[in-house]
Amino acid sequence: MLKIGCHLSSSQGFLHMGQEAKRIGANCFQFFTRNPRGGKAREWDLQDIGRYLAFARENGIADPLAHAPYTLNPCSKEEDIRNFAYDIMLDDLRRLEHIPGSRYNFHPGSHVQQGVDAGIAMIADLLDRIFQHPFSTPVLLETMAGKGSEVGRNFEELQRIIEAVEDPDRLGVCLDTCHVFDGGYDIAGQLDQVLQEFDRIIGLERLQAIHLNDSKNPIGSHKDRHEKLGEGYLGMEAFEAIINHEKLRELPFYLETPNDLAGYEAEIARLKSVYC
Ligand code: FE
Ligand code: FE
Ligand code: ZN
Repeated sequence: MLKIGCHLSSSQGFLHMGQEAKRIGANCFQFFTRNPRGGKAREWDLQDIGRYLAFARENGIADPLAHAPYTLNPCSKEEDIRNFAYDIMLDDLRRLEHIPGSRYNFHPGSHVQQGVDAGIAMIADLLDRIFQHPFSTPVLLETMAGKGSEVGRNFEELQRIIEAVEDPDRLGVCLDTCHVFDGGYDIAGQLDQVLQEFDRIIGLERLQAIHLNDSKNPIGSHKDRHEKLGEGYLGMEAFEAIINHEKLRELPFYLETPNDLAGYEAEIARLKSVYC
């Protein structure tokens, strides 16, 4: 069965997300752990989580993917900002212990003129500090489009982070189709070759989730502007091939396309109809 869902607003709690997922035909979903711009989050309501877990079990909803605020920068030049990233991540991971089966996805960060080597060292250092703590949620590095000084613009940079941490078994990768395409990988025309390269550099066993997005820009543009499936430079056929690929078909897929719920519902139905 295709594992397919989309990004949902977490502002009304977990049960509400589960109900929305069900309503639009999704069986997984992604959510921000707190305001995507960062900052303090209300404590999660454990009663709501209990109700969500029962609802999810009864309705076949699984694989909740928590997304860190995208303003976190684990490789900022400023120590304060790095410490802030550490505090937020640790607090998020502490909360996620209440959501079994969840994964935590984050953007590795932007090195801003410090250079990629310094950036990778800082990211690995932050992860080493995080991994001092015993929690069970896998932490996923997201493949980035390479906008500005983003670290993780290619498979090599992600692998260098993985190699630099002391406990790499707690790390996985979330592949964003718009980002890798913008990063210069032809995931639309050369899917097999791109996956072979991922396997050679990182190892496909690390791949735990896929963000399904079309791109408003041509390959290699480093822009990171998501488009609705089939309306951008990847095209609908690319997504049919991706969800059906033997190396990917069991993974959970999450839409982050510019859509309202009705738009997501239509994309989910379309993907289900072409999944064999
Ligand atoms: Fe992301
Ligand atoms: Fe993404
Ligand atoms: Zn993006």
